[in-house]
Amino acid sequence: MLSMDLYSAIEENLKQKRQTILFLNRRGYSTFIMCRNCGYTVQCKNCNISMTYHSYEKKLKCHYCGYEEKVVTICPECHSDKIRYFGTGTQKLEQEINKQFPNAKTIRMDIDTVTKKNSHEEILNRFKTENIDILIGTQMVVKGHHFPNVTLVGVIAADSSLNIDDYRANERTFQILTQVARKSW
Ligand SMILES: [Zn+2]
Ligand SMILES: [Zn+2]
Repeated sequence: MLSMDLYSAIEENLKQKRQTILFLNRRGYSTFIMCRNCGYTVQCKNCNISMTYHSYEKKLKCHYCGYEEKVVTICPECHSDKIRYFGTGTQKLEQEINKQFPNAKTIRMDIDTVTKKNSHEEILNRFKTENIDILIGTQMVVKGHHFPNVTLVGVIAADSSLNIDDYRANERTFQILTQVARKSW
């Protein structure tokens, strides 16, 4: 998930007690679910887009219309148990970072962690004031705030937003990347 370069840069940053922002524009845990036997993919029955697995609630969610269903383990098409979970969202990235850097303090910011109690503003304030080493988030991390101690911004799967079926995908990807990169200037 992390390139060797990014891994060493994070390690170095932790040593220097500097902060890191990791940006991944996909939330949830696994971003698509497929049967290895017949190729069936679990899609929202309303919108025909891939369902995303959310590990904390153990549910599949459609990020477009909000439809939810239980975790699938048996293929509804061919009834095999070869259902596999693929793709990386912010929940999986957070888990992976905590595994690879067990001493680092992390905080995650995406629609799933931003609630009334835990506002956008509050998460960013905590990142600033509570000695948190790594902020992991979706494009929400782009908005507002200047973090003087952030010297590294890692973009995971930078090409993922290029796959969005939108004629402005290239432009939007470039825009987000430059905004994120500016955080470390
Ligand atoms: Zn849907
Ligand atoms: Zn199947």
